[in-house]
Amino acid sequence: MAEDRTLVIGAGPAGLAAARALKEQGLPYDHVERHSAVGGLWDIDSPGTPMYESAHFISSRTMSGFPGYPMPEDYPDYPNHRQILAYLRSFAADAGLADAITFSTEVVTIERGDDGAFTVTTRAADGTTQTRRYAQVIAASGVQWDPNVIDIPGYTGEIRHSVTYRDPSDFAGRRVLIVGAGNSGCDIACDAARSADHAAISMRRGYWFIPKHIFGKPVDVFAESGPSMPMWLEQAVFGRLLRVINGDPTRLGLQKPDHKLFETHPLLNDQLLHHLQHGDIAARPGIASADGTVITFTDGTTEDVDLVLLATGYRHTIAYAQDLYGDEQHPDMYLTAFARTPGLYGIGFVETNSGAYILMDMLSQMVAQHIADRTRRPGAWKAFERHVATDRPDLSGGINFVDSPRHTGYVDAHAIQKYLKAVSRRMGWALR
Ligand SMILES: Cc1cc2nc3c(=O)[nH]c(=O)nc-3n(C[C@H](O)[C@H](O)[C@H](O)COP(=O)(O)OP(=O)(O)OC[C@H]3O[C@@H](n4cnc5c(N)ncnc54)[C@H](O)[C@@H]3O)c2cc1C
Repeated sequence: MAEDRTLVIGAGPAGLAAARALKEQGLPYDHVERHSAVGGLWDIDSPGTPMYESAHFISSRTMSGFPGYPMPEDYPDYPNHRQILAYLRSFAADAGLADAITFSTEVVTIERGDDGAFTVTTRAADGTTQTRRYAQVIAASGVQWDPNVIDIPGYTGEIRHSVTYRDPSDFAGRRVLIVGAGNSGCDIACDAARSADHAAISMRRGYWFIPKHIFGKPVDVFAESGPSMPMWLEQAVFGRLLRVINGDPTRLGLQKPDHKLFETHPLLNDQLLHHLQHGDIAARPGIASADGTVITFTDGTTEDVDLVLLATGYRHTIAYAQDLYGDEQHPDMYLTAFARTPGLYGIGFVETNSGAYILMDMLSQMVAQHIADRTRRPGAWKAFERHVATDRPDLSGGINFVDSPRHTGYVDAHAIQKYLKAVSRRMGWALR
């Protein structure tokens, strides 16, 4: 069947991790990428990327590289997007992955036959299509390409999603409202604070703003180097520390967090507080209504703006095979990587509170060894498939994540790593 080959879709960090793992297992694979080069969303020239000029890593250089391939020593604590791209390209070259990638080739459909094989249709840049069959498919096509757009009834100014934002020149001479306070929303709000005629940010709830450094160390390095504490104690100790450092958020027009520390995706940003403290930007709660270019917020305040930039996140669409992967916001995959359909996998779908590349690598090694088991240890393969169908572990690590679409399927990095190690031990799989 399909020469027992695997197809990897996408040459961002997740696709590279998957390809390295398959190569290490000596498994035959093809690798396709619709853009003309390696790097995924970190290539600001890749059409449709959400990347913008002021973007930096949110997890530190020390905690974020691929296992066995640390980021260069001369990188800063939080590398910028060009440095991440250069790092990914070096990784692809040094791991011998680049030559195996077919660029400018997009997967357009995947169908599953009665024999369990996948018929994959690809389209090249010149429009020619090709069809091939594969025993296994790994989707590593990214989750930050399909914008989640909201409607603001009554608003007549320009509305754009942050996926189209590139640099602060977009804001020159304009009155701007950023909607949403994720990491990108806060970065872009800071650009607006410095460049727009007037800037405001709307956030529906209060958040914990975590500084990028504590006692001169990147915050994730600091957190890992301290003593291991139960989550309730960590929340109490670090929550108190943040309250001491940041003071009362309502002084700056922000709402008090309605949740404990760590119960939402970490927001690492010191600059937004700086700009609020200097009056460069106004903080507003959620939008209540709009009339022309005037937007009214839930506390009755208003902003007259000619540009609304929606930093409202993305849907985790897998457009070429949605029916096989299920729900487009959160594809249903065991441990975020094993689809409930045998032979189908996804890397890069893990939503977590730490650097993602270590997890991408662990999951890739597990997927590759499961694929190897299919022919080398069919009994082990079948046993694991039963697991995939039924096991639904709690990977929250005891954290009561806020009930929102952003946190559906969200996992605690320590909890999932511990579980992946236990599953791998049981299956006899080696992890780096
Ligand atoms: C501003 C910003 C900051 C971030 N900071 C961090 C951080 O600090 N730490 C961290 O761990 N993560 C961070 N992330 C998360 C980020 O998502 C990952 O770093 C990473 O780029 C995701 O990798 P990926 O390979 O899953 O997806 P992508 O990088 O999106 O790559 C997917 C690739 O698949 C290709 N593709 C898509 N569809 C097809 C198709 N049909 N056929 C062929 N190819 C296709 C795309 O062209 C792309 O090259 C950040 C993200 C953003 C936007």
